[in-house]
Parts: sequence; C-alpha cells; structure tokens
Amino acid sequence: MLLAAAIERLYDLHVGTTPVEEGCPHERPHKPLLLLAVFDLIDEGLATPEHIPWCQALRDRFTARFLLVRKHNDQNNPDLPFRYLAGDGFWQAFEANGTTPIRREIRVSDIGKVFARFTDGFQYLTATPANRQLMREALMSRYFPHLLSSHPPSPIPNPLSLVADEPLEYGRSPAFRRKILEIYDHQCAACGLRIRLSSGNDVSFIDAAHLIPFSESHNDHPTNGLALCKNHHWAMDRDIIAPGPDLHWHVSKLIDPRRSNGEKDLHELEGKSVLLPKDPAFHPEWEGLSWRLTRLTA
Ligand SMILES: [Zn+2]
Repeated sequence: MLLAAAIERLYDLHVGTTPVEEGCPHERPHKPLLLLAVFDLIDEGLATPEHIPWCQALRDRFTARFLLVRKHNDQNNPDLPFRYLAGDGFWQAFEANGTTPIRREIRVSDIGKVFARFTDGFQYLTATPANRQLMREALMSRYFPHLLSSHPPSPIPNPLSLVADEPLEYGRSPAFRRKILEIYDHQCAACGLRIRLSSGNDVSFIDAAHLIPFSESHNDHPTNGLALCKNHHWAMDRDIIAPGPDLHWHVSKLIDPRRSNGEKDLHELEGKSVLLPKDPAFHPEWEGLSWRLTRLTA
C-alpha cells in the first residue's frame, strides 16, 4: 500500500460523532488520539508495528493528548479505540494467546496481556520514522488542527502531490474533498446546486473549499470546509462573497447587479442562509467564517 493511500484512510477513520442532545456536537477524538500515542510508543522503542502492548505507557500518552483536546462529554478511555480501531481495517487487537481477536471489553487489568498490531500494509509503512511523522501530521491537521494553530509546523512535505489532481489550495488530500462532499451531500452551500453524475462519485461539479486555506491553517478538519459549486468557489476565493459567522452569505459592494446577469446572481446571494450539513458536528466553525468575512472586499 502507498503512503498516500494510507494517509487517506487516516483521514477517513470511523470516529463517530457525539449526539446533538449532549450539546457541543463533535467528532470523537479517541481513534486518532490512540494512533498518535501508538506512534509515540514506537518512536520510543516501547512497541513495534507488529506488537503494540496494552500498557500504562500507552494509556499515559493517550491521556496526555486527550486532556488537550477533550470536549465536555468525552471520556478518557483508550480501551475503546484499542478494540474498535479494528473496524477501520488496518488494526487488530488480540487476546494474550496472540491469535484470538478481541471481541470484548478491554480493562486496565488486561495490561501486559493483550496487544494489537497494524495490518493491511500499515505494519510496513509505520515501521519507518519518516512515515510515522507524515501520518502524525496528517492526523493532527485532520482531527486536531487547533493544537497546531499556536505554532504551525514547518512546511510539511506533501506525500500526496503525486496523486492529487487538484491544486493544493483546493485541499491537501482527496480525502478532505470526499468528506466535504459527503457531509454536504454534494450540494453547494451557497446556491444549492447539486450535479452528480451516476457514473462515479468523483464526477461532481461541487468543490471542497477550505475556509482558512490549508497553507495558512494546516487545518483539514471538515469544519474548516464548505462544499461550493465552481462559481461560488471562485467568488469566495477572490473575496467577492463570504459566509459569515451569522451563517448568512455576504456579498462585496464591488458587485453591481445592473452590470451583468452573473453579477446579479452573485448579488442575490446577499443575506441568504449558508446551506449547512445535517450533522451539526460538521457545521463550519466560527473562526473560518469570521476569517472569510473580514477578507470580503468592501
Ligand atoms: Zn453555488
């Protein structure tokens, strides 16, 4: 398996989102946190990709990061991802005999008994420190960009540049695009246009746009994105239209509706609601909306 394909899968972990009723809906952080802790453990020589012990060192490294990213209703429990990461297809936890996959709750008392290993090619990729570093940076930019924002990392070598078919400003990873199109159901957040040909998922007229560009934010979390048709993507990137923190569209005064039908169409967007994803965990976040609005050409 190629590193780029592996990183795409890390972007697409089945993390689950918290129920709206609990407030503050968001993606659960546990699986990416566990992987970051495992990479630490391998770096330190306390684990190998083929033998990741369920141990206090792993729990401690999980907890250290968990305390930085937790939201009010998250539980500090590395045992769940240790077991359920198996559902993502590149990880399996085993009973003490080393052959029986774990199908039960894992407890603190299992320390020293159970272990996990990477599978499906990940065991080879994660054996290399440089690969682990790229995977770590991908996990951070996708799931925990706010931990990066205070001190953005040095320029990240882009392992996807050979496979990405879009300019970098439109997304560092094809997985970002796929996620955005999925949560917006291939619909432009400005005009509602949805054109999707049945011949394949990738034939869509809708783009995945970053609110704060990746080059500036290193933020590939879906809440830093919007699905937009080509017209509205073009206009937003030129600061002619902007979604605001009020979740409505704003249009630059430079647009003169009398000049052309194109400008008339853009002008009519003023005050319209931003069309949002169904799952509130993926609604665009305030920082990105505010960043866009402040750049709107007056
Ligand atoms: Zn549109």
